[in-house]
Amino acid sequence: MTYFWMCLRDQHDHRLVLLAGLVCMTGTLCAVLLMRQARDSYPDRSIRWLAVAGLTAGFTIWATHFIAMLGYLPGTAIGFRPWPTLASLCLAAAATWLGFLLALRHRQRSMQALGALAVGMGISGMHYVGMMALALPMRITLDWHYVVLSLIFSVVPLYPAMTLCLDGHGYRSSLKSASLACLAVVLLHFTGVAAIRLTPERLSVSSDLILSSQAMAAAIAGAALIVVANCLIVLITSRHNREAIHASERDFTLLARGISDYAIYMLSLDGHIANWNAGAERLLGYGEAEVVGRHVSIFHTPTDRARGNPAKILTMALESGKYTGEGWRKRQDGSSFWAHFSLELVADADGRPIGFAKITRDMTRLKEDQDRLAKLTAQLDTALDNMHLGLCLLDARHRLVLHNRRFAQMWDMSEEDLAPGLDLDRLATRALAARLPSAMDGGEHQHALATMMCEAVRSADAEPTIGEFDDNLVLSIVSRTLPDGGLVATFEDITDRRRSEAHIAYLASHDALTDLPNRARFGDWMEAELARAHAQDRHVALIAFDLNSFKEINDLHGQAVGDRVMMELSARLNAALHEGEMVARLAGDEFAAGKPLASDSDLDGFVARLAACFERPFDSEETPIVLSARFGIAVAPMDAETPEALLNNADLAAQRAKASVAGNIAYYESGMDRAARTRRQIAADLRMAIVRDEFHLLYQPQHRVASGDLTGYEALIRWNHSKLGVVSPDVFIPVAEETGEILAIGQWVLRRACSDAAAWPDDLTVAVNLSAIQLMQPDLVRHVAQVLIDSGLPARRLVLEITESAIIADKARALHVLRQIKALGISIAMDDFGTGYSSLDTLHAFPFDKIKIDKSFLLQSSTSHQAVMIIRAVASLGRNLGIPVLAEGVETAEHVALLAQEGCDEAQGYYYGMPMQLPLHDDLDQACL
Ligand code: C2E
Ligand code: CA
Ligand code: CA
Repeated sequence: MTYFWMCLRDQHDHRLVLLAGLVCMTGTLCAVLLMRQARDSYPDRSIRWLAVAGLTAGFTIWATHFIAMLGYLPGTAIGFRPWPTLASLCLAAAATWLGFLLALRHRQRSMQALGALAVGMGISGMHYVGMMALALPMRITLDWHYVVLSLIFSVVPLYPAMTLCLDGHGYRSSLKSASLACLAVVLLHFTGVAAIRLTPERLSVSSDLILSSQAMAAAIAGAALIVVANCLIVLITSRHNREAIHASERDFTLLARGISDYAIYMLSLDGHIANWNAGAERLLGYGEAEVVGRHVSIFHTPTDRARGNPAKILTMALESGKYTGEGWRKRQDGSSFWAHFSLELVADADGRPIGFAKITRDMTRLKEDQDRLAKLTAQLDTALDNMHLGLCLLDARHRLVLHNRRFAQMWDMSEEDLAPGLDLDRLATRALAARLPSAMDGGEHQHALATMMCEAVRSADAEPTIGEFDDNLVLSIVSRTLPDGGLVATFEDITDRRRSEAHIAYLASHDALTDLPNRARFGDWMEAELARAHAQDRHVALIAFDLNSFKEINDLHGQAVGDRVMMELSARLNAALHEGEMVARLAGDEFAAGKPLASDSDLDGFVARLAACFERPFDSEETPIVLSARFGIAVAPMDAETPEALLNNADLAAQRAKASVAGNIAYYESGMDRAARTRRQIAADLRMAIVRDEFHLLYQPQHRVASGDLTGYEALIRWNHSKLGVVSPDVFIPVAEETGEILAIGQWVLRRACSDAAAWPDDLTVAVNLSAIQLMQPDLVRHVAQVLIDSGLPARRLVLEITESAIIADKARALHVLRQIKALGISIAMDDFGTGYSSLDTLHAFPFDKIKIDKSFLLQSSTSHQAVMIIRAVASLGRNLGIPVLAEGVETAEHVALLAQEGCDEAQGYYYGMPMQLPLHDDLDQACL
């Protein structure tokens, strides 16, 4: 090291050393500026700047070296060999250019280090090759320690010089970079010179090959000229740049002054902030002094930075001239805002890019609004998509704007089918094609459906349109006008509702058990048929029929069997129908059938078909059941003109059919009407008859046949009607049984008969008729007992007469009641024996006290042998069973003779006495007294 200082102090011309330093400083500064120019230029220009920079640096260093060499005073005349001199120049220029290229191209620290190494090695090479160019009468040897030291000295300061040059901005960093480079060159030079050891020797080179110091000075001057020229270029261009920037700054200031909502500032090409406006200060919080010179990435979030976004944005802006974007940015205080920014490339007067103008605006509010709107839209979408109504929105020109998912599902349409902008007609056609391909025949039906749908949507703000597109597609379509003239239409699938309505309507119009139409449905049907028949001047027949003793089937076999039989009958009736006919079940065992008539034979055939349904027995599990019915027929318009009147008249005819012996079919006759009215009148008046005291009892005597003795009387009721006169019990008792009035009447009769009879001689009985309805009365036994107590009539003197049909209805119960009555000591007589069932079974089942042979047998006895045979059979039956037999209808002495002959015990009839009012007999009256 001492040697180094000694060499510098003693062996150099200090003026030339100073000059070398000056050249070096100027040249390296120039090279730094050129490098920066290369850095800030587009790649195609950058390479040119780079070449100039390399050349400048190379020449500078070379010139520095040789000026210093000229100042080197080894004590001998110096010359320079031309070839090594040239080689050293080329080496310096090439190495610096390569080093710069490496460092600039890749902009990485490692590459910058590599660049510094290349430059350092290059100039070291230049130094030692340059040494070889020295022509001295001495032998030059190198001290390798100094050589290594010189290499290190040259490379080490070059690295920071390189980074400062490429990363820095402004003159200060240029100056620093240039100074460091100079330091490297100077250190290298003097350490390199110090490495030289000279031993005197004869000059071995011919002197004409040696450049003189003068020639060398000229070469150096040339090199220096190049450096100066380069300096000039740099100066001019940087002035240009400055001018451009000055101009844009002026514009920028003008702009910035007017606008404080925007942050407006400029960036260098690599993203360093060049200036700053008030808006920027307001928005980002930094003052101008704090921020100019810093990199724009300070506003980015750490994630943004990690992703390299700041650099990406700059690159994109550089490539396309302009870049607009949005993103979160940070203020100085750490808070964030949503920035909308644009980055525009700014060029100088020559069109060379010099930086970017950046405009940033705070869009946080807008962003929040947008986010809210997006959320709201999403919610609205969800709501729309979860609606059970299909919905579509059309614009004022009736083009599809939006639809919900249900709408697409409803019509089996895909999203592609429902592209916005589709007009309503095409929408309707497409929807129908998707959902009802079978309806899309291209014909009238298709057209009608599409028109219906379009009209429903267009008829906005009206009542819902019910669109029946198909059995499986019934829609309720509602449309509303929107303020902009568009429409919003909703589609509700009401197919199921329609179906259940139809089902309910069906249930309401059909009988639940048999599924036949019910009374209401039949009435509607008749009404329609009558109207049509009226228009066509044709007839309509109504056939009313009810089943004989269906109640008994229910009672005997149980409800389940009854239902089965009813269902089978209904099926048969239904199967018997032809086109245009109807059978309905009106009530329990009442039916009606209707048919518009083309001819009279039509009706006969229809009735025959209905009657045929009863021919075969109905299979119950136990025994085959035979059903019969009586048919009443009324024909419109002769018999009646309304369904009700027609049915009423057919009913009347059916009742007649019951009574008729000839057959079970009867046609309505006008007289039936009157009878029915009378019957209704009776039913109505019966209710008041007891209160009005219109009933009274007649008593008909009963005598012993053999002795002719009076045994008792049968009580027979009479009704003295205010308008109709005396009404026969044969007329009003069935009506009273229907209305239930029989219970009150029966009680009145029993009470009156018992109290009357209580006044008679003790050996006379009183017989009271008991209706089947009375037998079913729950408190009958208690009531009878009470009457006996109240009247004081001994039970043995009371006979209750019942018919067999009253027992058959509910045999077990009837017999149970009868046993209880008999247990009171009351006698039970079987009335009207021989008609109806006349079953021996009933006689065996209960110990009757008397059998009354119906009067029809005795009355026919003179003409009918069979009647006599029956009287004989019953008389002998009574004898065998030990039950006394009474014959009714004894009118003549012959009758009495017959009875005596056949062995009947008692008799009753006009022969013995008519039913009479009290007082009965003179002798009886006396007895009563
Ligand atoms: P029934 O019990 O068979 O009564 C006998 C009927 O035959 C009576 O008719 C009587 O007037 C009539 N008759 C009596 N002897 C002769 C005769 O020699 N020749 C003819 N041709 N007829 C004779 P009536 O009084 O009109 O009663 C008719 C039916 O009314 C009775 O038939 C009975 O079933 C019912 N009935 C009458 N009174 C009552 C009553 O108080 N309660 C109930 N539940 N039914 C009654
Ligand atoms: Ca009787
Ligand atoms: Ca009788």
